Amino acid sequence: MAILRIREIPDPLLREKSTPVEAVTDDIRALIADMFETMYDAPGIGLAAVQVGVPKRLLVMDIGEPAEEGGEPVKEPRVFINPEIVTHSDDDVPYTEGCLSVPDQYAEVMRPDRIRAKWLDEQGVAHDEMLDGMLAVCLQHEMDHLEGVLFIDHLSRLKREMVLKKLAKVRKERGLKAA
Ligand code: ZN
Repeated sequence: MAILRIREIPDPLLREKSTPVEAVTDDIRALIADMFETMYDAPGIGLAAVQVGVPKRLLVMDIGEPAEEGGEPVKEPRVFINPEIVTHSDDDVPYTEGCLSVPDQYAEVMRPDRIRAKWLDEQGVAHDEMLDGMLAVCLQHEMDHLEGVLFIDHLSRLKREMVLKKLAKVRKERGLKAA
């Protein structure tokens, strides 16, 4: 397994539309293992393949509990291959979102909090389930990546510019520290 480099804005690959996974092969499973290792290391709760340079319709998530002091995290790894949203609730709810490709920035995004989704898992088994709450929101965020969409695209222009300004400031400070 390996920790992969996470693409950050303004990497143009993040704006590309990902293509379907043709077959769930050992190569795909090896990529999934690397994606989990990369996501846990970051740390993050979701990662799309395009964020590590592979524009395929594949994403991993874990919204389990982080480790309490001295304890082990409760892991709930989930794999979504070629995911599709079948239906969603009409009520949008706000969630504070962040993204490994927009590091250390958080903002409230409105999304349906209940969806019915279809996908394949890492064994190629088809799923068709109702998802709600954080799981539904996180899946929608990750699925946006497959279309080249980032959570900041859901913000007003003013809010988006604020996030990008803060990101530039953080990067500048990091650069100065590294120098
Ligand atoms: Zn993201």
